[in-house]
Order: sequence, then structure tokens, then C-alpha cells
Amino acid sequence: MRRLFAAFTLVALPLAAAMASAQSSPSSESGLQLDAMDRSADPCADFYQYACGGWIANNPVPADRSTWSRFDELQERNNEALHRILERAASGSEPEQKKIGDYYASCLDEASINQKGTAPLGPLVSKIDALSSVADLAPLVAELHTIGVNVFFSFGAQADFKDASVEMAIADQGGLGLPDRDYYLRDDAKSTELRKQYLEHIGNIARLVGASAQGVESIPDIVMRTETALARGALDRVSRRDPTRIYHKLTPAELQALTPTFQWTRYFTAVAAPPIYALNVTEPDFFKGLGQVLASTPIAEIKHYLKWHVIHASAPMLPTAFVDENFRFYGTALTGAKELRPRWKRCVDYTDSDLGEELGKAFVKEAFGPQAKADMLKMIHEIESALEKDIHELAWMTDTTKKEALVKLHAVTEKIGYPDRWRDYSALTIVRGDALGNSQRANAFEFHRQLNKIGKPADKTEWGMTPPTVNAYYNPLQNNINFPAGILQSPFYNVKSDRAVNFGGAGAVIGHELTHGFDDQGRQFDARGNLKDWWTAEDAKAFTGRAQCFVDEYSNFTAIDEVKVNGKLTLGENTADNGGLRLSLMAYMATLAAEPAKSLDGFTPEQRLFLGWGQVWCDNRRPEALRLMAQTNPHSPPRNRVNGVVSNMPEFQKAFSCKADDPMVRKNQCRVW
Ligand SMILES: [Zn+2]
Repeated sequence: MRRLFAAFTLVALPLAAAMASAQSSPSSESGLQLDAMDRSADPCADFYQYACGGWIANNPVPADRSTWSRFDELQERNNEALHRILERAASGSEPEQKKIGDYYASCLDEASINQKGTAPLGPLVSKIDALSSVADLAPLVAELHTIGVNVFFSFGAQADFKDASVEMAIADQGGLGLPDRDYYLRDDAKSTELRKQYLEHIGNIARLVGASAQGVESIPDIVMRTETALARGALDRVSRRDPTRIYHKLTPAELQALTPTFQWTRYFTAVAAPPIYALNVTEPDFFKGLGQVLASTPIAEIKHYLKWHVIHASAPMLPTAFVDENFRFYGTALTGAKELRPRWKRCVDYTDSDLGEELGKAFVKEAFGPQAKADMLKMIHEIESALEKDIHELAWMTDTTKKEALVKLHAVTEKIGYPDRWRDYSALTIVRGDALGNSQRANAFEFHRQLNKIGKPADKTEWGMTPPTVNAYYNPLQNNINFPAGILQSPFYNVKSDRAVNFGGAGAVIGHELTHGFDDQGRQFDARGNLKDWWTAEDAKAFTGRAQCFVDEYSNFTAIDEVKVNGKLTLGENTADNGGLRLSLMAYMATLAAEPAKSLDGFTPEQRLFLGWGQVWCDNRRPEALRLMAQTNPHSPPRNRVNGVVSNMPEFQKAFSCKADDPMVRKNQCRVW
């Protein structure tokens, strides 16, 4: 959550989930979900419709969701398991699970939360009220950051891009209430309308905390003005994909010069950071802008901005009226969900987010089998061999760069399932009946855990996702691929499924994460995770030309209405999708020689692999959620992920006997890996 330079994931939002206790039997001979298909569709015209049309027609988005997908289906199934674990823990029958039990029970106790009202925020609000000048802001910002209120900027630890073996402090842009800087700056009708709704939301929250009629009128404008000024200095998402644009190693004195009104020494002391001799100030212009905001905004207005963020960050653990108002804007206006999810589901998510490794420990104990781990490891090695072969055979890359690429490939390590060593939460106090306090202390625990890393060796055994998460990631600073237990099940992987189907799912996921090490971002890091150019100029140029083909291809896809897919924002993910499925197919075909290529459920092995890929991405999405995705998410919408990849593959054309002028056969087929 606090990682500032996100690792490259399979989907954008880590989804809380748990392993089902046993692998269910597939509904077909192959493991494909046959009733998810639309046999009336032509696979060569719209493969996504062919693979998923039945599922899409029969799985509308539930009222309390903004999306409904195979990922969500798995999450929902697994949440039931987490629910059982947490109910048991809350009853007190599992002494070693007292923390998750108390946290969960406190979160569920809406009556007690309502009864307290906003009183738990009183001391913090008094401190904000007592602020007399901007000069005294630093310790207060430190206190807010510690408990998870992200005002003005973010602060944490991350491996040094230029020497990834060591952790360093990092200060990054932040302080916004809308999803992205562009939400403040775009002038199209939808963006203007959303800003209007955001103003109303801030006004409603002000009314709930008892602001005067004049306050309800003026506070939203004050917050919007402050956040817009911060947004203007912030770097856009496409620029942030370039690691050189977000790496500026400065001394504290140099940072101080950028933001003269903010007392950094006092901030570092107040957050109890280890000695800081240098830090990555990701975007110096942002901090220069922050300095101007602090110098030009009256202290009374800064107080309103701080209070708004305190309430905003606390909303999930405040009384019902706050939760409902928070949902009205962030759930309905922004993502299109119609109803709030049941409280227990939200509390499962919050427990996973705040105590993920204690909850994770409880479910892998009952859920994660050695067979899945062994199979996964075997598949990883097969797909790494495919990439090795691919690198050897590349016509566009010279031997000099190939040698370096192989060094990097051979240095990739993997983690599967869950951590070898579980996080120690003994320093975190969880108090039954104090939902907001628990959440604030959990944030403080994590904040300090991160800051304690500064100046120390990077820990490659640490996980960036919790075990129940249905997702996977590549960490460029550690050159490792990571697969939480949560994703190692249907539809991605089933021990009882045909191998082709597993290669279309889990195999393509492995290939995807591995390819991230060699996409337009990942290729800039070396075998040890350092930002270092190992490419000859000629090969870098060839790579960029090939990557541009993906930019052009995906930029042509319409996400919704007038919004196109952003080909530059999604380039890394599209490269990983395309490389991932190709590597998985290569690996599968290499092992196929050993067994007869028989037909199952009426499909050839290659057809089953492509269908396995397609069916992982069956998805329904509300228009608001699709718009949000296209504007902020580095992953393309699922339909484009599926069709974008297969239309680049001659192997697909052959497998489904498509004609050269069919829509799923691109004239100019893109390929990097
Ligand atoms: Zn990815």
C-alpha cells in the first residue's frame, strides 16, 4: 500500500482473498468453463466474445460492486474462507489469532462506532486547531502521516534505484483526494461534473462534523483550491512510468531549499526516521510547488485542508453517516457501485490490509497444498527456458545485449505462496472496541516498519502482497517474480485441469511477470535490480521501435464512449501480456512432444490454451469503473487484453484457422518478446 514505486502487477488492485480449502473438480474434461463461451460468436472476429460471451451474459455486476470478473468471483469464494477464520478468531477460540479476531470484531461493531460519534478524532482536531503558523506544520504532518492521513506528500522507504541492495528514504507527491492529478486539470464534461460531485461530498462531510452553513459553503472550495495547486506540480502517470523521471537523489539540505517553509528536520525527527543523509525526492518540481502552496495559503485554509483529510482517511471506521457519504462519492459517483458491500466483507478487506500476514498465516495453514507449489515451480522453470530460447533466437537483438539479457534472466528468483518468515506484529496493539484506533495504530506500525528500513540492506524475502491476494507481481528492484497463494487456483490453475488450460492461465501469468523484467521499464534495471543501462544503443532503438507498435495498437482501442485506451500508460502491461502468452505457448509446445496432442471437449491443445487465456479475463464493468480504469490504470481493459494479444499471434490464426483479413489477425503484428 505504501510502496511508492509500485511493483508491476497482473491487475491493478490487490484483491483480498483466500485459498479455497480444496481444488474443485472442473466442470469439463479439459477444465475450460464451456458455458462461459458464446459458440455463436466467431473466434476470428471477436475471440473475447467467443471465450467469455456466455459468462458475460450470465454474470451481471452485483449491486454492491463496480466490476464483476473471474478475479472477483475467486475473491468472493475465498472471502467466505477468510470470513470463517475471522468469525472463529473473533469468538476468542484461537488465542494465537487474538489480534485479527479483535481487529475484525471491533470493525464489525457498528453500534459502538456510532455511539462514539466523531469523539475519537477530537484530540487530533484540537491539535490542528491549535496550529498557529506554517512554520509549526512539520510535526503535525508527521503525526498525520504516521496514522495514515496522507496530506501534502508521501514519505517512506524504498530500495535505492542505483544501488538496490540498500533501502533509502523517499519523498513523493501526494495529498490529493481525487484518484489522480488529471482529475483536477481536465475540462471535459465528465471531469467537470465529477469535480462538482467532489465539492458536494466535501460539503456533506463538513455538515456531518457540524460546520456552520458558511463553512459548508466555503470549505469545499478551499480544499479544491489547495489540492488543485498540489496537482499542478505533480507528475502525470505516463511520465511516472519512466524511472529516471522519479529518481532524484538529494540531500536533506537540497530538499529544504525546494520547500523553504516546511521544516524537514523537524519532520524527520517527528516521524522517528533513522539518520537521513540522502533521499529520493521523486519529483523536485512537486516539492517546489508544495513550497509555494505552503507560502501562499492562509493558515486557516491549511487547517481546513488537514481536517478534511483526517476525516476522509478515517471514514471507514466512523459512524454510519460518514461511511454512507464516503460510499456515495467514492463508490457510486466514481465507480458506479449501487449499494454498499455488507459490513463483514469490508471488515475482511480491512483486516487483510492491516494485519495481512497474521490473517494469511491462518488460512495457508488450512488451505495451501504442496502440490500447487511444486507444479508452479515446474511451470516457472519451463517458461524461463522458453524465454531463454526466445532470447537466443531474437533476430533484432545483437549478441552483446543477448548476453546481458541472459545474465538478468538467470538471476530472476521466485517466491510462491507465502513468506518463509511471517511478519511479527507484537509491537502493534489491537484493542477490542477501538476500531478507529486499531486502524490508526496499524498504519503507524506499518509506517515505522517501513522507515526502519532506511539505510539497511533490502530484504528480498519480504512480500509486497498478502498470501490471500488474487494477483502476482514482478519487483524490478529485486528482480523477482511473486505469486501469492490466492492466485494459484481456478480459473488460473487447477491440479485436475488439462495442462493446456493451466498454461493459458497460470502459465501466462508467470510469463507476464517474467516479461515485466524486460518491458520498457523493467529493461532499464539490471540483474541485481539496479537502474543501469545494459543495452547497446542499436538494440535499445530496435526495442523502442517494436514497443511503439504496441503503443499504436492499444491506443486505437476504445475503452468507453470518447475515452481511448492510453497506449503509453499501458505499454508495460501490454508488453507483459503479449510476451507472457507467447512464452507460455512456447513452453507448453516444448513439453507437448512427450504426449499425444489429443482433442478434449472438441478443442485442440493450442485452442484450449488460448481459451484458457481468454477465460481468465471474463469481466463485466460499470461505465464509471471502465472510465476510471482507462484514465488511471496501467492495465488495458480485459477485452483489449485478450483480443490485443491473440491478434498479434500467427499461432492463434493457425489454431482457429482464421483468414488473413479477419479482425483477430492484425496486418501489422506486434512482437517484442
Ligand atoms: Zn503486469
